[in-house]
Amino acid sequence: MQTQQAVIEWLHAVCELGHKFDFATIDQYGLLIGRSPKNEFALEDTFADPFFEEVERLVDQILGEWRTLKGGTSGFFHRVLGYACDPAPSGLRYFFTGAAWCPVCGSRAKDYDAYSPPRTELLDIPLVTHREWNNLTPQEKRSKIVQALRETGCLPEGV
Ligand SMILES: [Zn+2]
Repeated sequence: MQTQQAVIEWLHAVCELGHKFDFATIDQYGLLIGRSPKNEFALEDTFADPFFEEVERLVDQILGEWRTLKGGTSGFFHRVLGYACDPAPSGLRYFFTGAAWCPVCGSRAKDYDAYSPPRTELLDIPLVTHREWNNLTPQEKRSKIVQALRETGCLPEGV
């Protein structure tokens, strides 16, 4: 598996039930961090990976006029990006929305905050892969993104 070195910052979070846990964030231009509900993470290098532009273009095309209804497309784009990535080792999808899940109960982080002083760490992080995506035809790619946009509430039914 290909990895890339990146500096992550650990934040501390609290879930709905009050469990405390750490989760990784990244603040490096061009790098996005994907997290699975099992707290696996992987990097998307948006500059090195032509895939990124391809998905962005598709999202823009598909949303067309709809995007103006709910704000910019960047939020939409982050919601569907994981649908075009191979799943994490657990088989679960990566999410690029910034969401974090409690390792104890699985509920979403309710609150999170930086450590003071900040806790950073240089790690070798796996890069996301797109094997499944790369085997799709242009039509299948479009269908997949349409489906992803529906499932994530970015596109009304019947469009
Ligand atoms: Zn919890």
